[in-house]
Amino acid sequence: MTTKTESREHAHGKTGMAQTHMNYIDGRWVKAKSGETFASYNPANLKDVIGHFALSGPEDVKAAVDAAEKALPAWRRTPAPFRAELLSKAGHLLETRKEEIARTMVREMGKVIKEARGDVQEAIDMAYFMAGEGRRLMGQTVPSELPNKFAMAIRQPIGVVGVITPWNFPIAIPSWKIFPALVAGNTVVFKPATDTAMCALLLVEVLVEAGFPPGVVNFVTGGGGKCGMAIVEDPRVRAISITGSTEVGRQVAGRCGELMKRVSCELGGKNAICVMEDAEIDLAVDGALWGAFGTAGQRCTAASRVIIHKDRYKEFSDKLVARTRALKLGNGLDADVDVGPVVNKSQLESINGYVEIGKKEGAKLLCGGNILTDGDFAHGCFHEPTIFGDVKPNMRIAQEEIFGPVTVLIQVSSFEEAIEVANGTQYGLSLSMYTQDVNRAFMAMQELESGIVYINAPTIGAEIQLPFGGVKQTGNGHREAGTTAIDQFTEWKAIYVDYSGRLQKAQIDTHGVSPAEKE
Ligand code: NAD
Repeated sequence: MTTKTESREHAHGKTGMAQTHMNYIDGRWVKAKSGETFASYNPANLKDVIGHFALSGPEDVKAAVDAAEKALPAWRRTPAPFRAELLSKAGHLLETRKEEIARTMVREMGKVIKEARGDVQEAIDMAYFMAGEGRRLMGQTVPSELPNKFAMAIRQPIGVVGVITPWNFPIAIPSWKIFPALVAGNTVVFKPATDTAMCALLLVEVLVEAGFPPGVVNFVTGGGGKCGMAIVEDPRVRAISITGSTEVGRQVAGRCGELMKRVSCELGGKNAICVMEDAEIDLAVDGALWGAFGTAGQRCTAASRVIIHKDRYKEFSDKLVARTRALKLGNGLDADVDVGPVVNKSQLESINGYVEIGKKEGAKLLCGGNILTDGDFAHGCFHEPTIFGDVKPNMRIAQEEIFGPVTVLIQVSSFEEAIEVANGTQYGLSLSMYTQDVNRAFMAMQELESGIVYINAPTIGAEIQLPFGGVKQTGNGHREAGTTAIDQFTEWKAIYVDYSGRLQKAQIDTHGVSPAEKE
């Protein structure tokens, strides 16, 4: 077992000098079997290397699954309230290290410091919430149809669980998966996105320090194709929980289907805020600004479309454009900065590629549209917050996930048309309605096709105590967070106890005799 000091040595590169970090397998920090590494960079300044990490392949994944399998019997028999106590400790450690982790997050993936603190806070909330589940893990007891017979269903862990995560919520998303998996008695093999390997390592350090036994949490860093897919392919991994793009989710879910393995996918989104003619426009502008440009638009719930009633379109769009132009871009560690860099160069180019697509499609560029390259921005991945007006619902920029600081404004003539346009993409994660009319608000709650609906609030801002996830191509029917997260990581076992002392036949003793035979 690694000591606290040894463990922390893996987290802290000395300023200006990038350290090499390792995988965590069976209670030990170990190098990738190949000895190869990859680097993680600061997107505000690509010259700043955050660290080097193990470039893991199938053999490393095998070692991690070996360890998780070995640790499983003892862990699943550990009483859930004790498993939960370790999660509470993790919550406490996250609180004490919140600022340090948040600052590392800004440096590694670029979101501004306030949002980075929020990301860590989400994990703290999830730790305490899931620790509470350790004293619930509710089953069911129901009456039997036969006398002197007891009927109940209990939850059991699934086994070894593979957790594969993206870079945009580098602490929160892993916590949504790992914490419920652990409290339910599963062991975990965790592979984060390569862009945020350092944040993931800090989370693993916290779990090590909290005292989870060797093999219960294993950590392997590396790319999706070799390391991620090896987790999916290993038959001993009984469930996969992945958050990422719809394309990757489809690939992983397809393979899990063939392997008859449980898989929960949280994937892309093309979320919309609807602004009706009776909306409070300033409130809606506040919401759209935050929804579209928070985390530089790199949230699965980002408001990448705003659907506005024609009577208020000009007023809304003038105000939103003015507010957007006033946003300050820069390094997220500067407390005055509103929008940080995007995560890496290829994301930057992909976002700007969509700006070009929007122009070609005939949308009107209202503000932004450029990659910034001068002065402080020279070595970073900065894209101006961008708004397109006069966008038609079927344009690519209104249909495809851009995952950057770009939003599109679409005009509609009625409430019904707003709902139709909002529902008119392949995705269904988060939709929002701004209206003062209570009937319309309830109609929107009923008719919007998404896993999350907001009324008079933007598409972002989920809290951990309610189910999180989407419909259509955003997911495959599972939900994270809330008590529903436990469903992802448990199997139901139905149990009947017959204490009648005789053979009783369900359906037959009660209903198997015809009325004629009874007479
Ligand atoms: P991504 O799909 O590129 O990668 C996600 C994770 O999957 C990474 O760890 C990656 O290494 C791994 N991976 C890639 N290919 C794999 C494969 N073949 N087998 C196994 N693992 C593989 O996504 P990203 O760029 O890291 O994140 C952005 C995407 O995540 C966006 O589409 C966003 O909408 C989505 N997202 C969704 C939610 C949600 O809850 N719905 C939340 C956050 C992000």
